[in-house]
Amino acid sequence: VRKAGGDNILSLSEADHKKLNRKSIIEKRLLTALDQHHLKVLYQPQADLKTGKIDAVEALVRWDDKEIGVVSPDELIPIAEETGLINQIGSFIIEEACRQAVAWQQQGIEMKVGINLSVREFRDKNMAKFILETLMKTGCPAHLIQIEITEKFALEAEAETSIIQQMRTLEEEGITFVLDDFGTGYASFRYMQLLPIQTLKIDQMYIRSLTQSEKTQRLINGIVHFGKSMNLTVIAEGVETEEQKQLLKQYGCDAIQGFFISKPVTAEKIPQLISS
Ligand code: C2E
Ligand code: CA
Ligand code: CA
Ligand code: CA
Repeated sequence: VRKAGGDNILSLSEADHKKLNRKSIIEKRLLTALDQHHLKVLYQPQADLKTGKIDAVEALVRWDDKEIGVVSPDELIPIAEETGLINQIGSFIIEEACRQAVAWQQQGIEMKVGINLSVREFRDKNMAKFILETLMKTGCPAHLIQIEITEKFALEAEAETSIIQQMRTLEEEGITFVLDDFGTGYASFRYMQLLPIQTLKIDQMYIRSLTQSEKTQRLINGIVHFGKSMNLTVIAEGVETEEQKQLLKQYGCDAIQGFFISKPVTAEKIPQLISS
């Protein structure tokens, strides 16, 4: 990876310097955080629109560092990818998610857990193996794990047969794949044929303008119908209002995720949310 301005550091603006500086601080602190197990996972529930039941959650990484404060995933993940530390974050999340799915199952709660994985993480030739080993080690059934990949991932994976191979291996074992941030710019119908995807997750950007724009309404309606005709589960993220929920239900969307159901919460809060 070519670092911005790496060979010409004197011409960097002050803002660039600040950015580089923050990045190297985050890098350093992240190493410590991983060592000392300071990363946490929150879970955001998804509700089935037919039954109204919460039957899945998405695992989202959280990091509140005692020196630099909260580092959001949107800042953390790209830096972790550049430095290679993403692999350690990924291993941690995968293990946590599997353990948690088993813990809920032991409480009588059948809950699918979604894990976000980047294309960088799937370039690790041992990714599928690691996931399958973690399922074994934790006793987690494969059908409880959903892997969320983005459209950008799909675009890059298309040219990398080893990634597709790993996805197929996991699919054969019963893991499902979600195409996340659907509609944000890289979508190609080719992926639907090439990659073992079972779920489309409509990006929250569209949901935000849903009740204001008739155009967006037609678009979302179209996406839901497209997904259903492809035999995919369709889920909408970033749902914040009753009005948005009602429209999505009307279009035949399968499930929703967003502040309207719940913000991301700690694992212990999930059983309460289900029974309320
Ligand atoms: P994402 O996968 O699209 O996750 C959804 C994001 O939307 C989350 O932000 C979530 O907290 C937020 N969100 C959920 N419901 C609502 C809502 O109703 N309104 C609004 N305004 N926002 C909502 P978060 O947790 O900050 O994560 C940001 C992104 O970072 C994620 O986007 C995902 O791409 C990435 N990410 C998070 N955790 C991980 C991880 O463990 N590994 C990897 N590779 N990426 C992760
Ligand atoms: Ca996601
Ligand atoms: Ca998303
Ligand atoms: Ca996103």
